Amino acid sequence: MQVIRDIDTLRAWRRSRTEAGETVALVPTMGYLHEGHLSLCRIAASHADRVVATIFVNPTQFGPNEDFESYPRDEGADIVKLAENGVHCVFLPTVDMMYPTGYDTFVEVQGLTAPLCGASRPGHFRGVTTIVCKLFHLVQPNVAVFGLKDYQQYLVIRKMVQDLLMDIQVVGGPIVRDLDGLALSSRNAYLSPRGREAATVLYRGLTAAREAYEAGERDPRVLREVALAPIQAEPLARVDYVEVLDAETLGEARPDRPMVVAMAVFVEKPRLIDNLVLGGSPGGRSEEPG
Ligand code: AMP
Repeated sequence: MQVIRDIDTLRAWRRSRTEAGETVALVPTMGYLHEGHLSLCRIAASHADRVVATIFVNPTQFGPNEDFESYPRDEGADIVKLAENGVHCVFLPTVDMMYPTGYDTFVEVQGLTAPLCGASRPGHFRGVTTIVCKLFHLVQPNVAVFGLKDYQQYLVIRKMVQDLLMDIQVVGGPIVRDLDGLALSSRNAYLSPRGREAATVLYRGLTAAREAYEAGERDPRVLREVALAPIQAEPLARVDYVEVLDAETLGEARPDRPMVVAMAVFVEKPRLIDNLVLGGSPGGRSEEPG
């Protein structure tokens, strides 16, 4: 696996792949890698000849009072994990490289970014689409793989690709969970043992909503209440949002269309997110992701 730390070398690597007639899949990450990230690398390997992973904690997607400075980092361990999971090239840029002095250009998707994390974290998606757009220009991937754990992000990236006429296939990878259902996240590292236990309420809420849906409940307000109940019963959990929305548009949910139950919950220090699609495949597509 090639470890690349500057833009010129990355561009040269990409040119050589084109000359060799190879396709490239990209997996963007912020590092501190876990099985969720690694599953995306393996999915990427099944879609292209070469896999590029990037590790970059992107300052523009963090709010002023968020955890940019303290976000967990372990570059050495990450490089070993990527090499063991079919990645051919890892790109580790610095903030100065990705945001040259005086930068003044952003990419922003409207509409889909209004609810959920867009409402709770103003500017977050503008930071995400801007950095992903830059990485797309540098890597020029044929395929890009994103986790469905960040469901709204996946829809927003798909929309950016569509709207900006980018010739990139966006693939969604299933959420990887721990044995008790907690979605893997780099931020789980912030949890105390008691907090880690409390964090299972997110999945318990989602499971309760799924059971109600499977028993025939279709009223989004009722499904929301069902998902909310176990979370509100946990003293260490503080709800940021729990919403049931249309799984494709993130507009109002309708009983006859796929819905997404999406939530963001503070448990001790970290804000954890999770989601579940009811009545269809993620993003409203007929085929399974990945
Ligand atoms: P991050 O490093 O948190 O920016 O995540 C990088 C990519 O990994 C994003 O596309 C995430 O959606 C994805 N990801 C993070 N956690 C998981 C998980 N538990 N299962 C699947 N994908 C994940």
